[in-house]
Amino acid sequence: MLNLSYWMPTKIFYGKGCVEENKDYFSSLGKKCLIVTGKSSAKRSGALDDVIRALGAGHISYEIFDEVEQNPLLSTYFRAGEKAKEIGADFLIGIGGGSPLDAVKSAAVFAANDFADRMEIYQPPYPNRPLPCVLVGTTAGTGSEVTQYSVLTVDTTDGKPGRKQTVKPLFADACFGDYRYTQSLPERFTISTALDAFCHCIESYFSTKADTLSELFAREGAKLLLDVFLDLPKDGQFTPKQREKLYAASIYGGLAIARTGTCYCHAMGYFLSEEYEVPHGTACAVFLPSFLKLGCETEGKKADQLLFELDIRLSELCDVVENLTDFTPFPLSEEQREELYRLWSSSDKFSTSPGEFTIEDAKALMDEIFPVA
Ligand code: NAP
Ligand code: FE
Repeated sequence: MLNLSYWMPTKIFYGKGCVEENKDYFSSLGKKCLIVTGKSSAKRSGALDDVIRALGAGHISYEIFDEVEQNPLLSTYFRAGEKAKEIGADFLIGIGGGSPLDAVKSAAVFAANDFADRMEIYQPPYPNRPLPCVLVGTTAGTGSEVTQYSVLTVDTTDGKPGRKQTVKPLFADACFGDYRYTQSLPERFTISTALDAFCHCIESYFSTKADTLSELFAREGAKLLLDVFLDLPKDGQFTPKQREKLYAASIYGGLAIARTGTCYCHAMGYFLSEEYEVPHGTACAVFLPSFLKLGCETEGKKADQLLFELDIRLSELCDVVENLTDFTPFPLSEEQREELYRLWSSSDKFSTSPGEFTIEDAKALMDEIFPVA
């Protein structure tokens, strides 16, 4: 469908040295900020030092909340928000992969509001506008920099795994994309985050919500990713050019899913991260070959255009994804399956998947991939 309407309120500062070059931007947001990060990657990547230098130039004081874990919990987002309130922050900066970036988007809501119950984060619009927030990415995958989503895991007290739920719409005010911050990302995470970006591009491309612009973003991202996938470094050392391609592709993927959302690979992949610590991108990619086949079967013309531009056959593309997906299926009991089917029965990511994908299709796919315990 031809649709060129466009609204994406996040200002994108992009390229090598973009934090230093645009340091005046921070002064426009206030005099005090909370920086939200994971354990160590903000420092290791060099991004934290650059941000601190930029804040210093604008005489902006800051404190750091460095407690964001992978697949972060709602309670962590809440604590970051409380910390921002406590120090009287005017704005927040998230530095890291999808986890800290998603955390800071929700923390900005908590910082500006006094909810009786934390779950009110799921009921926008909020009484007060979230504090301004700025994102500095250090992985090339989620595209969280440019999406309105903040994925959080809801805490549980009964020993059951917490489930991921997405808060929206929470676009950041600005993001800084300097691919050099991804250089320190180990090979394993480079691949899994790149697979996340690839899933975003492919799921968005075949989504029933796809339109002219989302398809353009998705194809562009997929092309850049495939360039790297077909020329992987033997020693795990990605070149700066490859890092740049991966980072740019993650932004294209983010722009694409900001319009369409993701499809069943994401819905079905979540439990592998929630319960088995499979990295998010790898978890979603487990279901991608089947999704690619379904998309190509049901959307022939669109599929031809994609495969033509990627210059690859469907079977070869599925092989590329399978070879990169570092995952060995394990047995799942009937009880575990039933619990997942209950969860998925209300998933809106099934109805936007191509080919009228239903819970029955999901069951068949699970049986194909996972042996019965
Ligand atoms: P992540 O969970 O943010 O980070 C994974 C690991 O990589 C962490 O150990 C992190 O260390 C480390 N790391 C990050 N950058 C590094 C660097 N430059 N050098 C060395 N180590 C680095 O991973 P992610 O895949 O980017 O994010 C996954 C999360 O994003 C999931 O919760 C997923 O659900 C969510 N997600 C969000 C969206 C969206 O649109 N908002 C889309 C897809 C996925 P530290 O712990 O020290 O930081
Ligand atoms: Fe994702």
